[in-house]
Amino acid sequence: MLEQVFLHQKKYSLQLRKESLKVRLSFLDDLERLITEHQGDIVKALHADFAKPEAETLLTEVYPLIKEIQHTKKNLKIWARPTPVESGTALWGTKSVIKREPRGVCLIISPWNYPLNLALSPLIGALAAGNCAIIKPSEVSRHTSAFLKKYLPQYFRAEHVTVIEGGKETTEELMKFPFDHVFFTGSTRVGKIIMEQASRHLSTVTLELGGKSPVLVDESANLKHTAEKVVWGKFLNGGQTCVAPDYLLVQQNQWPHLKPLIIETIEKFYGKTDEQVQSPSLARMISKNHAQRMKTLLEDAVKTGAELVYGGNIDIEKSFISPTLLEKPDLQSDIMQEEIFGPLLPVITYNTLPEAIDFINQREKPLALYIFSNSRHNIREILEETSSGGVSINDTVIHVGNHHLPFGGVGASGLGNYHGYFGFRAFSHERAVLKRSWGHSLASRLYPPYTASKVDMLKTLLKWKL
Ligand code: NAD
Repeated sequence: MLEQVFLHQKKYSLQLRKESLKVRLSFLDDLERLITEHQGDIVKALHADFAKPEAETLLTEVYPLIKEIQHTKKNLKIWARPTPVESGTALWGTKSVIKREPRGVCLIISPWNYPLNLALSPLIGALAAGNCAIIKPSEVSRHTSAFLKKYLPQYFRAEHVTVIEGGKETTEELMKFPFDHVFFTGSTRVGKIIMEQASRHLSTVTLELGGKSPVLVDESANLKHTAEKVVWGKFLNGGQTCVAPDYLLVQQNQWPHLKPLIIETIEKFYGKTDEQVQSPSLARMISKNHAQRMKTLLEDAVKTGAELVYGGNIDIEKSFISPTLLEKPDLQSDIMQEEIFGPLLPVITYNTLPEAIDFINQREKPLALYIFSNSRHNIREILEETSSGGVSINDTVIHVGNHHLPFGGVGASGLGNYHGYFGFRAFSHERAVLKRSWGHSLASRLYPPYTASKVDMLKTLLKWKL
């Protein structure tokens, strides 16, 4: 069955290459209609998956998709236009252009944490670039997967866009086919498996992975502002965000002042500790297993010396973990070794900025880095001396919402990027096309036999760097 789907898409992809931009734009219209016509079902599916608050579904799933579709529709004509480039002296008489062509049949594998956005945002790039796509959503967010499985076929033909549901085994089966591009969003561990499997066919890959994204707070930061932005970014989606602040690195003298502000903000957003379990503004863990993982991480952190500063309320039956603050975690404990991916926030203090920068550089390159500072000098130093997929300065998470910026990781946090033009580019092949318009190229004067005069000519070219 999978083979048939793949072969039908392969066949259709050859026809699709010949279609006009107008046709691609109509596909983007269809995707936009799917989302707007079923907004209510989307909210319900995400609520059923992990009690995601309606406001967060609209803000982080529906809104960014609609905005990205509009941005893509507005700019596609310019992005898809062939770009003329210089040919140079040696290729006199030729014209060169870069043509952006569809890759062909693409596989989109998505995770459960933003289950609609991360399945459909890559699809925007794939459709804009003229591709066919098979979407393999996460089996964990089963209500949203069922939504995609039910509604996408009502807007797209199966040979163009198909949803295949399933877990690890289904992905392994799919990865046996020679896809023209594999776009994977998920953990670094599985990303490595996908890249290995893609290498069998030399399929190109985009890997949107995770990691531990630090928040660096220096001595000049506005602490009230910092507390608000950190609490929002950390506990959004129940802490299950790839770019969520993973841990805080706070200048030692600032921490006693920042701590009460963070607690105050948590209570302003989600209520007092005994009210938080009822909060409709706080998403739950995606499953009891994921809640259990948080509980184990927290217990291990405390056992290995971390101080529980705030929170720590857990109800596994309700998949509930309350916003939790921890101080002085053991750097070898699991909470400081694994991506947390939940509402636990460990805090580490530092003395000097170089110490904090070293701390970041001794670890894998993160997907995001957050800097809270009012010192231009410090901001420059941190940017120059560290690496990460993206950065927000004096804010968290929101750089992902700008479709004019590429979104992706670096090193262990990912390979390649997307959103807006970068999504169109990820799903396009840049084809080099050179056409001789007149005359003979200089190269043809250098064809064999290689006489002394030809060698002299080459030496002259090199001497004058022509
Ligand atoms: P995951 O890696 O477990 O699963 C992602 C996808 O891979 C799912 O569709 C799943 O069915 C499939 N899969 C799982 N195990 C597999 C295997 N052994 N072989 C083949 N396929 C397999 O990730 P997750 O738990 O769904 O999502 C959380 C992770 O994703 C976190 O690490 C998070 O940081 C990351 N993430 C990254 C981004 C980003 O844009 N960079 C966005 C969201 C999530």
